Amino acid sequence: MTSIPLSLSSTMSFLSRSTAAAGLSSLTIGSHVTIFALHRPVSPEHDHRGLSPDFLRSALDRLKCSGYNFVSLEEVLTRPNQLPPKPVCLTMDDGFADQAELLAPVLAEYRTKTTFFLITGFIDRIDWPWDEKVAYLIKASTNSVLEGLEPYGLPEKVSIESANLRDSVRRLLQKKGKELPAEKISDLVETLAKACDVEVPALPPRGYEALTWDQARDLEKQGLRLAPHSVNHHITSRLSLDDARAQFAGSWKRLQEELENPAKIYCYPTGRLTDFGQEHEQALASMGYLGAVSFVSTPLRMRHMHAQRYRLPRIAFPNTLTAVFRYASWIEALRSFAQPVR
Ligand SMILES: [Zn+2]
Repeated sequence: MTSIPLSLSSTMSFLSRSTAAAGLSSLTIGSHVTIFALHRPVSPEHDHRGLSPDFLRSALDRLKCSGYNFVSLEEVLTRPNQLPPKPVCLTMDDGFADQAELLAPVLAEYRTKTTFFLITGFIDRIDWPWDEKVAYLIKASTNSVLEGLEPYGLPEKVSIESANLRDSVRRLLQKKGKELPAEKISDLVETLAKACDVEVPALPPRGYEALTWDQARDLEKQGLRLAPHSVNHHITSRLSLDDARAQFAGSWKRLQEELENPAKIYCYPTGRLTDFGQEHEQALASMGYLGAVSFVSTPLRMRHMHAQRYRLPRIAFPNTLTAVFRYASWIEALRSFAQPVR
C-alpha cells in the first residue's frame, strides 16, 4: 500500500471536511479557476529543476479523484459561466522536445485539454531562446572563473566552481537579460560565450531542442491545444509596438500554417506585469486574439475575467501535492483575493 505523507493526508482530509466552508467561501469571494503553468520536465541534460512526469501523473490523478475538472483556456474565455464545478486549467510554455516527449503524454492521458504555448521561431529552427543559451554556456564551460561580465552587474572575476555558483550566475544573467532592450540580448550572449570559452551552437544542442511540427500535430490530435508564445521569446515590452505586433501576428500565422485548429490565445514571454502593457493588450484584442496569459501568480477570479482577459494570471505548477491542492482549491483564492487587483 502506498503511504500518503502526513502533511498531504491532513491537508486532503481538511479539504474534504471543508466542503461546507468551500461553498460558503465561494459565496463570499465568487467563483475562481486556477490556471497552472508547466515548464520543463526534470532532465540531467539541462540545468533546470524540472517537473517529474511521475509527480505530474500523481497530481493529475489526485485532482481528478478529488472532483476537479480540467477545462481548456478557451472554455474559461468563451464560456466562463458554464464551467464545471472545481475547474482547473493547465498550460505549458515554450515547445521543448522533452515537454512533448515526457509531459504531454501524461497531460493527454488525463484529458487535461492543456494549452501548449509554442515559440514558433524555435520550432522552425530559426533560433533558440537566449535564456537557454545563457544556461547552456554556463553549463558547458570548463572555466572555473568567468571574466568580463562587469557590464551585466557581475564582479570582475566570478567563480562558477560549484553547481550552486553556476546556478546563481545563470539566474543573475537571465534576470539582467530580461531588463535589456531586445537588440542588446545578443551582446550579452556573445560576451558570456567569450567568458565561458564556449561557442554558441547555431542549433540547440541535446537537452535544449525544440519539438518538431510533426510532434505538435500529434499533440493536437491527442487533445492538447496549441497556441502562440511569440516568434523568438523576446520580452514584449522591450520591443517597439510594431515589433511586438509582428510577434503576435507572425507566431499566429505559423501555427495556422502548420496545425489544424490552433487556439488564438497569446502567452507573453516571461509574463511579469513589467513585460507587457495595456497597448499590447489592446493590440491583441484588435488582432482578434481571444485572450492572453501572464505570469501574475494568483488564481483567476471569474468576476474579473473580462477585465483581465488579455493578462490572465497563472501559477507555476508546484512540486508538492499539498501545494497543488492549496493553489487549486479556494484556500489560495481566498488568500490572494484579499490583495488589491491591478
Ligand atoms: Zn516562455
